[in-house]
Amino acid sequence: MTEHASTTVRERNSDTAASLSLDRQVFGENPLEVRESGHYAQEYVGGLVDKWDELIDWDRRADGEGRFFVDQLKARGVRSVLDAATGTGFHSVRLLSEGFDTVSADGSPQMLAKAFRNGMRHGGHVLRVVNADWRRLGHDVPGRYDAVVCLGNSFTHLFSEHDRRKALAEFYAMLNPDGVLIIDQRNYDAVLDGEAGANRTYYYCGDQVSAEPDHVDEGLARYKYTFPDSSEYYLNMYPLRKDYLRGLLRDVGFQRIDTYGDFERTTAETTPDYFIHIAEKRYRDEEELARLDADAR
Ligand code: SAM
Repeated sequence: MTEHASTTVRERNSDTAASLSLDRQVFGENPLEVRESGHYAQEYVGGLVDKWDELIDWDRRADGEGRFFVDQLKARGVRSVLDAATGTGFHSVRLLSEGFDTVSADGSPQMLAKAFRNGMRHGGHVLRVVNADWRRLGHDVPGRYDAVVCLGNSFTHLFSEHDRRKALAEFYAMLNPDGVLIIDQRNYDAVLDGEAGANRTYYYCGDQVSAEPDHVDEGLARYKYTFPDSSEYYLNMYPLRKDYLRGLLRDVGFQRIDTYGDFERTTAETTPDYFIHIAEKRYRDEEELARLDADAR
């Protein structure tokens, strides 16, 4: 073996080891080429997982979103919830403390381990965690739920339409007949069209933590997260346009889809940072849907 070849093998081995030990992010030689749905597992690794709560700041985030999700769920009579993108457990803990029967799923075991510890710390909740990728959710998560929530701009990690459709179909299948999916996303329309602000009121609320776009094109939004100790992490995400996601939700069978901006009804004049889609499974005939859409305008 030549020296170059052995170095390459050593580097590849050490990259593999890093992704297996999950302690540092691995983006390879050209990070802008990393556009894969499964890559999140190598992005939510030790360092970033440990820092995630610093990034989102639970107290300020709770103030920012208020009772929005809890009220939307209670208004629809929801009792059981699958938190499909648990992360470090912010929404699972909130839902449990509001009395929802909650199961907490995520594709990252490290995130789930942190969520479990957070559950104990914040109110002594024993989270029921399940390590599951959305594209195979039905294989790994038992039961049916009144609601599935996929929050914190998580769905953006899927890079192909094939995977997005499959994940939404899995969410749909996990729901009881009158169930509801709540899924949110960054306002990528504004990012792509150069209109985005840098509001830190709702999601990334941490003090002295910055979340800035490092590279944006129609197929990639790469964000850089900088912390007070000067450590830097990156996430590669797909910049979903709002109407595109609404269309996919409609295609997989959701009937009524209400979209809010920063927890308020949207108007043509506002440019929210985040959109929240509330997608209902219950069948409605076309006339009723048209009437509801007209009322919402
Ligand atoms: N919901 C949490 C919050 O708001 O703080 C976490 C949000 S974090 C941006 C995205 C989460 O989605 C990560 O925990 C990641 O592991 C998870 N995730 C990304 N792609 C996934 C997939 N295909 N299947 C399951 N989980 C996935």
